[in-house]
Amino acid sequence: MAKSFDQLDTRAALAEVARQFYQRGWMPGTAGNLSARADDNTRPGFWITASGMPKGQLEDNDFLLVGVRDDSVIERLRAAHKPSAETSIHRAIYRVFPHARACLHVHSVDACIAVSRVAATLTTLRLPPLEVLKGFDLWEENPQIDLPVFPNWLDVPRIAHEIEQRFSVTPPRISALVVRDHGITVWGESLQQAFNRVEVVEFIMSYMARAGSGV
Ligand SMILES: [Zn+2]
Repeated sequence: MAKSFDQLDTRAALAEVARQFYQRGWMPGTAGNLSARADDNTRPGFWITASGMPKGQLEDNDFLLVGVRDDSVIERLRAAHKPSAETSIHRAIYRVFPHARACLHVHSVDACIAVSRVAATLTTLRLPPLEVLKGFDLWEENPQIDLPVFPNWLDVPRIAHEIEQRFSVTPPRISALVVRDHGITVWGESLQQAFNRVEVVEFIMSYMARAGSGV
Protein backbone atom coordinates (compact mmCIF):
# COMPACT_ATOMS: atom_id res chain seq x y z
CA MET A 1 0.00 0.00 0.00
CA ALA A 2 1.07 3.58 -0.56
CA LYS A 3 2.24 5.50 2.48
CA SER A 4 -0.36 6.77 4.93
CA PHE A 5 -0.75 10.55 4.94
CA ASP A 6 0.67 10.43 8.46
CA GLN A 7 4.00 9.12 7.11
CA LEU A 8 4.46 12.04 4.74
CA ASP A 9 5.73 15.52 5.47
CA THR A 10 2.73 17.44 6.82
CA ARG A 11 2.53 20.02 4.03
CA ALA A 12 3.16 17.50 1.26
CA ALA A 13 0.41 15.33 2.75
CA LEU A 14 -2.06 18.23 2.94
CA ALA A 15 -1.33 19.14 -0.70
CA GLU A 16 -1.99 15.54 -1.72
CA VAL A 17 -5.25 15.45 0.27
CA ALA A 18 -6.31 18.67 -1.50
CA ARG A 19 -5.55 17.15 -4.91
CA GLN A 20 -7.64 14.10 -4.14
CA PHE A 21 -10.56 16.09 -2.76
CA TYR A 22 -10.37 18.46 -5.73
CA GLN A 23 -10.60 15.49 -8.08
CA ARG A 24 -13.68 14.31 -6.20
CA GLY A 25 -15.35 17.70 -6.78
CA TRP A 26 -15.24 18.68 -3.12
CA MET A 27 -12.78 21.61 -3.47
CA PRO A 28 -13.87 23.37 -6.67
CA GLY A 29 -11.83 26.41 -7.65
CA THR A 30 -10.20 27.72 -4.52
CA ALA A 31 -12.90 26.39 -2.18
CA GLY A 32 -12.25 24.62 1.09
CA ASN A 33 -9.31 24.64 3.47
CA LEU A 34 -7.17 22.01 5.15
CA SER A 35 -4.98 22.06 8.24
CA ALA A 36 -2.84 19.86 10.47
CA ARG A 37 -1.19 20.47 13.84
CA ALA A 38 2.54 21.14 13.86
CA ASP A 39 3.46 22.06 17.40
CA ASP A 40 6.91 22.95 18.54
CA ASN A 41 7.80 22.93 22.21
CA THR A 42 6.82 26.48 22.92
CA ARG A 43 4.12 27.49 20.44
CA PRO A 44 1.09 25.40 19.59
CA GLY A 45 0.35 25.89 15.90
CA PHE A 46 -1.07 24.33 12.76
CA TRP A 47 -0.32 24.48 9.05
CA ILE A 48 -3.26 25.75 6.99
CA THR A 49 -3.83 26.36 3.30
CA ALA A 50 -3.12 29.87 2.07
CA SER A 51 -6.17 31.87 1.01
CA GLY A 52 -7.31 31.86 -2.60
CA MET A 53 -5.15 29.01 -3.93
CA PRO A 54 -6.56 26.51 -6.48
CA LYS A 55 -6.85 23.30 -4.48
CA GLY A 56 -5.96 20.96 -7.32
CA GLN A 57 -2.52 22.55 -7.72
CA LEU A 58 -1.18 23.23 -4.22
CA GLU A 59 2.55 23.05 -3.57
CA ASP A 60 4.29 22.42 -0.28
CA ASN A 61 4.87 26.15 0.17
CA ASP A 62 1.20 27.10 -0.12
CA PHE A 63 0.63 26.80 3.64
CA LEU A 64 1.11 29.05 6.64
CA LEU A 65 1.88 28.06 10.21
CA VAL A 66 -0.55 29.88 12.49
CA GLY A 67 -1.13 29.92 16.24
CA VAL A 68 -3.74 27.90 18.09
CA ARG A 69 -4.08 30.31 21.02
CA ASP A 70 -4.34 33.50 18.94
CA ASP A 71 -4.44 34.56 15.29
CA SER A 72 -0.69 35.02 14.92
CA VAL A 73 1.17 33.86 11.78
CA ILE A 74 4.19 31.89 13.03
CA GLU A 75 5.69 31.05 9.64
CA ARG A 76 4.93 32.29 6.12
CA LEU A 77 6.65 30.55 3.20
CA ARG A 78 5.62 33.00 0.47
CA ALA A 79 5.42 36.73 1.21
CA ALA A 80 2.05 37.33 -0.42
CA HIS A 81 0.24 34.49 1.33
CA LYS A 82 -2.51 35.05 3.83
CA PRO A 83 -4.08 32.30 5.94
CA SER A 84 -7.38 30.87 4.73
CA ALA A 85 -10.36 33.12 5.37
CA GLU A 86 -11.81 30.29 7.46
CA THR A 87 -8.77 29.77 9.71
CA SER A 88 -10.79 30.78 12.78
CA ILE A 89 -12.97 27.67 12.38
CA HIS A 90 -9.92 25.39 12.44
CA ARG A 91 -8.57 27.24 15.47
CA ALA A 92 -11.89 26.75 17.28
CA ILE A 93 -11.74 23.00 16.64
CA TYR A 94 -8.15 22.68 17.88
CA ARG A 95 -8.96 24.73 20.97
CA VAL A 96 -11.98 22.67 21.96
CA PHE A 97 -10.56 19.25 21.01
CA PRO A 98 -6.93 18.93 22.17
CA HIS A 99 -6.61 15.50 20.55
CA ALA A 100 -7.50 16.81 17.09
CA ARG A 101 -4.41 16.75 14.86
CA ALA A 102 -6.03 17.56 11.51
CA CYS A 103 -9.11 19.50 10.37
CA LEU A 104 -10.46 19.31 6.83
CA HIS A 105 -13.16 21.51 5.31
CA VAL A 106 -14.70 20.91 1.88
CA HIS A 107 -17.58 22.29 -0.16
CA SER A 108 -19.74 19.65 -1.80
CA VAL A 109 -23.02 19.82 -3.64
CA ASP A 110 -24.37 16.82 -1.72
CA ALA A 111 -23.70 18.34 1.71
CA CYS A 112 -25.51 21.52 0.68
CA ILE A 113 -28.51 19.53 -0.58
CA ALA A 114 -28.62 17.23 2.46
CA VAL A 115 -28.63 20.07 4.96
CA SER A 116 -31.07 22.17 2.93
CA ARG A 117 -33.74 19.60 3.81
CA VAL A 118 -33.43 20.49 7.49
CA ALA A 119 -35.66 23.27 8.82
CA ALA A 120 -33.75 26.51 9.32
CA THR A 121 -34.61 26.46 13.01
CA LEU A 122 -32.94 23.09 13.64
CA THR A 123 -29.33 22.83 14.75
CA THR A 124 -28.76 19.16 13.99
CA LEU A 125 -29.15 16.79 11.07
CA ARG A 126 -30.13 13.23 12.09
CA LEU A 127 -28.01 10.81 10.08
CA PRO A 128 -29.30 7.52 8.67
CA PRO A 129 -27.82 4.52 10.55
CA LEU A 130 -25.49 3.53 7.73
CA GLU A 131 -22.71 0.97 8.04
CA VAL A 132 -20.08 3.61 7.20
CA LEU A 133 -20.65 5.30 10.59
CA LYS A 134 -18.30 2.67 11.99
CA GLY A 135 -15.62 4.88 10.48
CA PHE A 136 -16.28 7.13 13.47
CA ASP A 137 -15.76 4.22 15.90
CA LEU A 138 -19.51 3.96 16.49
CA TRP A 139 -20.06 0.28 17.18
CA GLU A 140 -23.74 -0.04 18.00
CA GLU A 141 -26.96 -1.27 16.46
CA ASN A 142 -28.95 1.39 14.67
CA PRO A 143 -26.87 4.36 15.86
CA GLN A 144 -28.80 7.59 16.43
CA ILE A 145 -26.28 10.22 15.42
CA ASP A 146 -26.88 13.91 14.90
CA LEU A 147 -24.56 16.01 12.75
CA PRO A 148 -24.30 19.54 14.22
CA VAL A 149 -25.57 22.24 11.84
CA PHE A 150 -24.40 25.87 11.97
CA PRO A 151 -25.66 28.94 10.09
CA ASN A 152 -23.40 30.28 7.35
CA TRP A 153 -22.65 33.79 8.61
CA LEU A 154 -20.71 36.06 6.24
CA ASP A 155 -18.63 36.95 9.29
CA VAL A 156 -16.59 33.72 9.57
CA PRO A 157 -15.29 34.40 13.10
CA ARG A 158 -18.94 34.42 14.18
CA ILE A 159 -19.29 30.85 12.87
CA ALA A 160 -16.09 29.90 14.68
CA HIS A 161 -17.32 31.50 17.90
CA GLU A 162 -20.60 29.61 17.74
CA ILE A 163 -18.75 26.33 17.13
CA GLU A 164 -16.42 26.91 20.08
CA GLN A 165 -19.24 27.96 22.41
CA ARG A 166 -21.52 25.08 21.52
CA PHE A 167 -18.91 22.30 21.48
CA SER A 168 -17.33 23.48 24.74
CA VAL A 169 -20.66 22.68 26.40
CA THR A 170 -21.98 19.88 24.17
CA PRO A 171 -19.37 18.00 22.15
CA PRO A 172 -20.86 16.08 19.21
CA ARG A 173 -20.75 12.26 19.07
CA ILE A 174 -18.97 12.42 15.74
CA SER A 175 -16.01 14.65 14.91
CA ALA A 176 -17.81 16.52 12.16
CA LEU A 177 -20.14 19.44 11.52
CA VAL A 178 -21.91 21.04 8.59
CA VAL A 179 -22.37 24.72 7.83
CA ARG A 180 -25.65 25.32 6.02
CA ASP A 181 -25.37 26.17 2.28
CA HIS A 182 -21.62 25.81 2.61
CA GLY A 183 -19.94 22.49 3.44
CA ILE A 184 -18.61 20.07 6.03
CA THR A 185 -15.73 20.26 8.49
CA VAL A 186 -14.25 17.03 9.84
CA TRP A 187 -11.40 16.55 12.33
CA GLY A 188 -9.40 13.57 13.48
CA GLU A 189 -6.60 12.40 15.72
CA SER A 190 -4.42 12.09 12.61
CA LEU A 191 -4.55 13.44 9.07
CA GLN A 192 -5.30 9.96 7.75
CA GLN A 193 -8.21 9.56 10.16
CA ALA A 194 -9.63 12.98 9.23
CA PHE A 195 -9.28 12.11 5.53
CA ASN A 196 -11.11 8.81 6.00
CA ARG A 197 -13.87 10.52 7.94
CA VAL A 198 -14.42 13.18 5.26
CA GLU A 199 -15.12 10.27 2.91
CA VAL A 200 -17.56 8.78 5.43
CA VAL A 201 -19.47 12.05 5.89
CA GLU A 202 -19.54 12.71 2.16
CA PHE A 203 -20.89 9.18 1.60
CA ILE A 204 -23.71 9.94 4.03
CA MET A 205 -24.35 13.40 2.52
CA SER A 206 -24.54 11.82 -0.93
CA TYR A 207 -26.96 9.17 0.35
CA MET A 208 -29.19 11.80 1.97
CA ALA A 209 -29.12 14.08 -1.07
CA ARG A 210 -30.23 11.20 -3.29
CA ALA A 211 -32.77 9.87 -0.80
CA GLY A 212 -34.76 13.03 -1.45
CA SER A 213 -37.08 13.37 1.47
CA GLY A 214 -34.43 12.82 4.10
CA VAL A 215 -34.66 10.33 6.94
ZN1 LIG B 1 -15.73 27.04 3.26
